[in-house]
Amino acid sequence: MEESVSIVIPVYEEEESLPLLYKSIKDVMEGLGRGYEIIFVDDGSKDRTLSVLEEIQKKDGNVVVISFRRNFGQTAAMAAGFEYANNDIIVTMDADLQNDPNDIPTLLEKIKGYDVVSGWRKDRKDKFISRRLPSMAANWLISMVTGVALHDYGCTLKAYRKEVIKNVKLYGEMHRFIPALASWVGASITEAETTHHPRKFGRSKYGIGRTVRVVLDLITVKFLQSFSTRPIQAFGPGGLVLGLAGFLISLYLSFEKIFLGQDIGGRPLLFLGVLFMILGLQLVVMGLLGEMLARVYHESQGKPIFTVKKILGR
Ligand code: UDP
Ligand code: MG
Repeated sequence: MEESVSIVIPVYEEEESLPLLYKSIKDVMEGLGRGYEIIFVDDGSKDRTLSVLEEIQKKDGNVVVISFRRNFGQTAAMAAGFEYANNDIIVTMDADLQNDPNDIPTLLEKIKGYDVVSGWRKDRKDKFISRRLPSMAANWLISMVTGVALHDYGCTLKAYRKEVIKNVKLYGEMHRFIPALASWVGASITEAETTHHPRKFGRSKYGIGRTVRVVLDLITVKFLQSFSTRPIQAFGPGGLVLGLAGFLISLYLSFEKIFLGQDIGGRPLLFLGVLFMILGLQLVVMGLLGEMLARVYHESQGKPIFTVKKILGR
């Protein structure tokens, strides 16, 4: 028996694309002859998206529609889809026909030896300055910082094994970091080239501001990866160095004042010494607070600080 597939699609105001998208996914999936479901998550659209989806769902038992009360964003929509997905493999794709359902069989073939297959829009059909250029920079930065090198983090068309995705918690706009998050819990990852089409209907939901949000989310993700179970190690070293430097500066000034009788009230160095000491203390205390938070997080929820693949002899 081939593994069954859940296709998760975040939808925000894409009324024109949906009938075409649905038909083309259905054709591809029926051709494969695997068990499948299509989960549309309507992210609080104000156009006719929901009624179009209701029409589709009425006629097809393989279709599930989740409708949000308001617009929560693409990450939340995808997380909802994961929550309700029942099948072995989860495929995510955009609703705007920019991803091509004909690539789904390629992803399903490739995932046989892996936990995650990431789509790569090699010939991407978006504007260069506002889209492809920032995306190239983002992919380079994300690959470098997370240590998981991919050509196209931003491509929604990806496939995941269910066990992997159920271990990944999403916040903010972190859907694009799923491969990195998955890799950190031990998943194996590969890429597959996918086709990309220009947007036919409606307009993109994002502007250039997305770049800033991606960078901020990247900082969060990196911090959590490196230090979530040992925050004092992130803040402590800087705190100690600054504190020590501040202390030495103050010691030197005290020496001049007490033994050489010099005025130190107007010396810029005095401010620097005081600043360093306060900053140093604050960083160390922040690290200690982080240590307490880490314990509250893990112990109150019974969350282990590791992930187990299997246990032998039990
Ligand atoms: N989307 C969503 N909620 C949002 C914004 C976007 O569910 O708040 C969906 C949108 O309908 C599309 C996908 O996320 O299916 C990607 O959005 P878009 O095509 O606008 O992004 P782009 O391709 O321009 O990067
Ligand atoms: Mg798009």
